[in-house]
Amino acid sequence: MKIHEYQAKAILREFGVTIPQGIVCFGVEEAVEAAGKLGGATWVVKAQIHAGGRGKGGGVKVAKSLDEVREHAGNILGMTLVTHQTGARGQVVRRLLVEQGVDIRKEFYVGIVIDRSYRRVCMMASAEGGVNIEEVAARTPEKIHKLLIDPVAGLANHHAADLSRRIGVPEAAVAEASILLQGLYRAYESTDASLLEINPLILTAEDRVLALDAKMNFDDNALFRHEDISAMRDPDEEDPAEMEASRYDLSYISLDGNIGCLVNGAGLAMATMDIIKLYGGNPANFLDVGGGATAEKVAEAFKLMLRNAGLQAILVNIFGGIMKCDVIAEGVVKAAREVQLSVPLVVRLEGTNVDVGRKILAGSGLPIISAENMADAAQKAVAAASVEGGAAHGHPY
Ligand code: ADP
Ligand code: MG
Repeated sequence: MKIHEYQAKAILREFGVTIPQGIVCFGVEEAVEAAGKLGGATWVVKAQIHAGGRGKGGGVKVAKSLDEVREHAGNILGMTLVTHQTGARGQVVRRLLVEQGVDIRKEFYVGIVIDRSYRRVCMMASAEGGVNIEEVAARTPEKIHKLLIDPVAGLANHHAADLSRRIGVPEAAVAEASILLQGLYRAYESTDASLLEINPLILTAEDRVLALDAKMNFDDNALFRHEDISAMRDPDEEDPAEMEASRYDLSYISLDGNIGCLVNGAGLAMATMDIIKLYGGNPANFLDVGGGATAEKVAEAFKLMLRNAGLQAILVNIFGGIMKCDVIAEGVVKAAREVQLSVPLVVRLEGTNVDVGRKILAGSGLPIISAENMADAAQKAVAAASVEGGAAHGHPY
């Protein structure tokens, strides 16, 4: 689960991380009032969406007067912000963070993730902070310093100090930077975060160290023990299809292709997406209906895929092991009728009771394109999607 910058900052503050004063706002006049309350002579008006790269996209603006706060708040609130992380569709800005303007002498980068190969939490830091860390990682990875953290000992002060020095924090600020890094690690650990990113961590002219941006993602499997964090969920920022999927206990991820995939088992679902790509197509989603899918669950899965207006074909790829092919076939037929399927449907069934399953599909009267194996299924789906792409979309079969 993702949260907004202002929410991440509130969590970090509890762990002693130094953050500029800021107030979350939902309206323009509210933003002006907030700036008045914060005081000072400069403010930063920041779009709150679940994506980075806001500064480059015009979602972070410095204001030198309350009138400028009003102007920026008016421009940013309600805008569709497009950044390299939102995709081309962008994200509508509904919340703002009005923050004290800080005098930046130097910008650093700090991130915390799990390094699966070492089975350790890894803190990464770089002197090249600011808005282009992805480029630094791609072009000059040696400029990103890594520290693997022992889960029992935690982040020791001398390790934090050493990392601070490696990224060029001046000696006068090393002690403060170390405390901040330790606070970040404790926040990451205690909240079951999966990612914590501060870009930039900054040094002021007075050698103070502050977190100016904050991003936190959490492990969904641990949310049951963090009610306070679960409550931070912002449905406006979530994919409606994915939210619906979680209600039916389906693993569903929206993607930007045009071939819907309905598969049992995560491994087979991944392989299905791969083979669609191999034959030049693009999957519209990842969908694992699980081992014990009922006809009802299959119908819900179809409805989810059909929410996508760009959908041009569906590929059902089922290996009937515990699940029998005839049961799946019945589910597919029921679902296809119920949702009045309007795109070509390719089905590949294999496993227990496959012959009965195929008979059910063939006898259903539905224009189901039957496939022999995965390669055949992927090729047929890719072909069906490209034909459909040329024709007007949406005619019922
Ligand atoms: P994003 O990473 O989404 O672009 P940031 O919060 O990192 O958003 O803001 C972009 C840039 O704006 C920062 O790198 C920093 O230079 C500047 N900035 C952000 N917050 C402040 C602030 N409170 N005071 C001064 N400058 C800021
Ligand atoms: Mg940033």
